[in-house]
Amino acid sequence: MSITKPTILVTGGAGYIGSHAVLALKSAGYEVIILDNLVYGHRDLVEQVLQVELIVGDISDRSLLDNIFQTRKVDAVMHFSAYAYVGESVTNPAKYYQNNVVGTLILLEAMTAASINKFVFSSTCATYGIPQFIPITEDHPQNPINPYGATKLMVERILADFDVAYNLKSVRFRYFNAAGANPDGLLGEDHDPETHLIPLILQTALGKREFISIFGTDYPTPDGTCIRDYIHVNDLADAHILGLEYLLNGGESEVFNLGNGNGFSVKEVIAAAEEVTGKVINVKECDRRPGDPPALIGTSEKAIKMLNWQPQYSGIKEIVSHAWQWHQKRHK
Ligand code: UDP
Repeated sequence: MSITKPTILVTGGAGYIGSHAVLALKSAGYEVIILDNLVYGHRDLVEQVLQVELIVGDISDRSLLDNIFQTRKVDAVMHFSAYAYVGESVTNPAKYYQNNVVGTLILLEAMTAASINKFVFSSTCATYGIPQFIPITEDHPQNPINPYGATKLMVERILADFDVAYNLKSVRFRYFNAAGANPDGLLGEDHDPETHLIPLILQTALGKREFISIFGTDYPTPDGTCIRDYIHVNDLADAHILGLEYLLNGGESEVFNLGNGNGFSVKEVIAAAEEVTGKVINVKECDRRPGDPPALIGTSEKAIKMLNWQPQYSGIKEIVSHAWQWHQKRHK
């Protein structure tokens, strides 16, 4: 007797982290439907690599959501779609609150109306703000220092309240710095505009940029540059499957950090990229970028223990080399 696997609606499934999660869901045998407005997502990756149903539309379109939930048997929702440029969130907070908070609220209301009560949410270490201690645990105080982090924290609170009132069970994952690419070279990071360190370094290695700016060399860290916790996107995707299964098995709402547990400085990442690419990467030492804490490192012991998460890629060279493979192919 064949048992049909649950159907998962993945919002933002055409984006960077969402697309890796869709591939992992497919490999695990789930039915997947992607809802993506394609503002930043990539139709070609859905059609050529993921090959699942793509509904082009917005999470704030209530009638579209009602129609999806009425015409398909959706068992759970994984919610990746969000605006995620920290700098833009400061200059255009309305866009962030509208999409990330109001849009998510509409999605949650539609789910509640359709009696779908399992939700996996992409939150962020940006909800913690300036760390008071390192490594950051899930019970670290949450005091975001930019609107992006604030929008994600608001959704976390909405989820806690929806659990009490409407029995909506959620897993909230607080990501550290998502990085790397699918090791088979099928998927990777392709943001426009690009603001993240590793892709920018690799664009420099490809000759598409003259130099990489190092934002601050006077931080209280061993080499003076900022330290971040880079977590491989495939490890993130695996955690999402485990989080989903935890909920499908009747788990209560939970929050988990997803990080590597190791910190790497900007200069260490550049050195790893020079080794991986075999190229000299021109750097320009610049002023600090406003709002950057010196070091952000999380502990993911809780996810490792409770979800039996076993991240595979902890070394920065491996993470950068997968990203390099992808960038060479995508940005020829
Ligand atoms: N960074 C940098 N130059 C760049 C982009 C980023 O020095 O062109 C630094 C940034 O200050 C931070 C780290 O690299 O310390 C990671 O930044 P990214 O924007 O990739 O992620 P974030 O930590 O902001 O989520």
